Amino acid sequence: MKLRTVGACGTVTGSCHLLEQDGFRMLLDCGAYQGEMEEENSAAFPFDAAQLDAVLLSHAHLDHCGRIPLLYARGYEGRVYSTAATLKLVKPILEDALKLMKEEAKRARRKGLPAEPPQWGEEELRRLTERGKPIPYYAPRKIGPFRVTFKNAGHLPGSAFIEVQAAGKSLVFSGDLGNRRKETLPDPDYPRVADLVLSESTYGDRPHRPFQETLVEFAEVLAETLDRGGKVIIPSFALERAQEILFYIRRFEAEGRIPVAPVFVDSPLTTRVSEIYSQIQDFFSNEVRSLYRRGIDPFAPQKLRYTRSVDESKRLNELSGAAIIIAGSGMLSGGRILHHLRHHLPQKRNALIFVGYQPRGGLGRRIISGEREVRIMGHQVAVRASVYTLGGFSGHAGRDELLDWLSAEGRVVLVHGEDEARDSLARNLRARGARVSIARLGQVFAV
Ligand SMILES: [Zn+2]
Repeated sequence: MKLRTVGACGTVTGSCHLLEQDGFRMLLDCGAYQGEMEEENSAAFPFDAAQLDAVLLSHAHLDHCGRIPLLYARGYEGRVYSTAATLKLVKPILEDALKLMKEEAKRARRKGLPAEPPQWGEEELRRLTERGKPIPYYAPRKIGPFRVTFKNAGHLPGSAFIEVQAAGKSLVFSGDLGNRRKETLPDPDYPRVADLVLSESTYGDRPHRPFQETLVEFAEVLAETLDRGGKVIIPSFALERAQEILFYIRRFEAEGRIPVAPVFVDSPLTTRVSEIYSQIQDFFSNEVRSLYRRGIDPFAPQKLRYTRSVDESKRLNELSGAAIIIAGSGMLSGGRILHHLRHHLPQKRNALIFVGYQPRGGLGRRIISGEREVRIMGHQVAVRASVYTLGGFSGHAGRDELLDWLSAEGRVVLVHGEDEARDSLARNLRARGARVSIARLGQVFAV
């Protein structure tokens, strides 16, 4: 097998790798770049999309699936293999991405800036739906000269790491490995011993904070704020994090640890993802499945409401009394969360809880660093609400979990991590006698 690492080298977005055997070309993920490297998304692929024979997709996050429609726009005609849950979830994720690209192009045109229209559209999404082929976990499948097995990665519902065998050799592609402390998802499986493991390294230099502490703090902040009649504002990613937050709010209510208050999910994408959750119940932990079996929606606190229209969203600004509002975008880069921050940050009785990563230089970081006044949608907004950062909700394996998952491996190629994270993980693995490479863009590895 010949492996070429053509994405996510020295960064955590743009996952994409090419495997070749006997002239058969198979892609592992084809994700979008996010943040600083976004303009790479419209660049030429370092391979001919029309000459590809198959695409395997590890999970539904945009940085792993976001450029698959572009493959179709550039001549790919083959299948996309993934789990049934992933194939369901990629649909709203990619539709939302397309909507944002169109809005961005419109904004640029209005400002008189050069605006490139999106390079793919509904037609390519339709092709992906048509050509998507579900593969169950643990069921080996022959794809060209490869024998491919998907196993549970515990990172999202339906997320997988992928074992590939050909010509007597084997490779494991980690995709994104989940955090073992997630209670909504099954723990990641371990890979079989392989000739080469292509592994993510997002948290390669950091162990996670103890999760129980995070949960205790979360329940305390919710109880205190709701008891004093305040609003709790939670910016969240639409896929997995928002539902996980709802899972704990429901549990805290059931345990009597917090008062029952209205919970608003104000994010159209989160709403669509939540609708899919009940259709993919097999992909969750035993606890979640058992709640579903007993007729309880594990992701529905007692007074849950999904807002539909923009008007309904705006009416939340006038809402009196205690409530929890979950809205996107999770990184405060746009979306309905900005309205809520503008209206609720100035009141002392409210609380803002960060449950996800905030990028350097962004609004979230400025609020966390203690700025007393921030600019939101052209307004100066005083920050008087209490601000909390709960670091324990990460969806990725921490350093120690990565080392544990890679414990049997002799040859490891590291991708999907900043360089500090990859260097640190590489040092730890080498100390154990593993042969480790820190992949460069376009580098070729023989398996
Ligand atoms: Zn991911």
